[in-house]
Amino acid sequence: MERYNSIGNYLKQKFGAKVFKVSLNGNFSCPNRDGIKGTGGCIYCNPESNRPFISQGNTIKEQLLEGIEYAKKRHQAAKFISYFQHYSNTYADPKELKSLYNDAISDPDVAGLAISTRPDCLTADILDLLSEINQKTFLWLELGLQTANDATLRTLNRHHSVKDFENAAILAVKNGIKICAHIILGLPGETRSDLLNTIELLNNLKIWGVKIHNLHVLKETELAKMYARGEIRILELQEYASMVVDCLELLDPKILIHRFNSHSPKDLTIAPEWSVNKLAILNSVHNELLKRGTWQGRLFSTPEK
Ligand code: SF4
Repeated sequence: MERYNSIGNYLKQKFGAKVFKVSLNGNFSCPNRDGIKGTGGCIYCNPESNRPFISQGNTIKEQLLEGIEYAKKRHQAAKFISYFQHYSNTYADPKELKSLYNDAISDPDVAGLAISTRPDCLTADILDLLSEINQKTFLWLELGLQTANDATLRTLNRHHSVKDFENAAILAVKNGIKICAHIILGLPGETRSDLLNTIELLNNLKIWGVKIHNLHVLKETELAKMYARGEIRILELQEYASMVVDCLELLDPKILIHRFNSHSPKDLTIAPEWSVNKLAILNSVHNELLKRGTWQGRLFSTPEK
């Protein structure tokens, strides 16, 4: 029995083949780093942690070919989702974006496009462009929320509000664009009720997917300084697995689970150690689901308060 609605199974069924994401680097920036919103970035962000491993400096088409070749050999994948993950990938001139997005879907083996961005980087022009791209390919937009608590967003130095996320998600959905929200569990000062509010918001906004991350401390971040000063506590693996299952039980069963772990290179990760062990996290969450005999959406219609 599938205890949660996984994106991997969904894509395999939809495209009749193993689907693999190919990360591309469009050399974007971020308004929370270039001074438009802020300069320091989010307290947990080290942009090096999600830089694509494929050759830097190459064009998008070259990166795509390289990524596809690698994934075919290494993962026996047959279909691909081009993925702009690094920085804020709608934060540029729409003409430039159009060309990059079109290049990213130019290979016949590309089944779709995923674009990660901030809620405050969706202007009317960008939404028009995304709607156009959505007609050409299987598109989804990854939008960072992290939490539905504005005070925590301020602590995280996100420089956007919960309302910004709500407005962006509503506009995107109105334009027929699928939204995958990013959230983080174990944030400083957050309680169970914050977690429940975050899940409730996602359910209410009828988002399409969610990426659940554990708070982890990366080198050269403000969070690393806070961790060194003993100002934050990082969850144990079992605590995290239990929280993930709490979220899954309350989530609308239709929402696709894109992941429930953070994934950063070992050499950049300070804590927790378990964060770099994806399999251990998967196993812990699966074991917790089994132990409770529960599944995604079991408490969806009657969320606890
Ligand atoms: S996490 Fe995203 S929004 Fe925050 S500073 Fe890094 S790139 Fe910008």
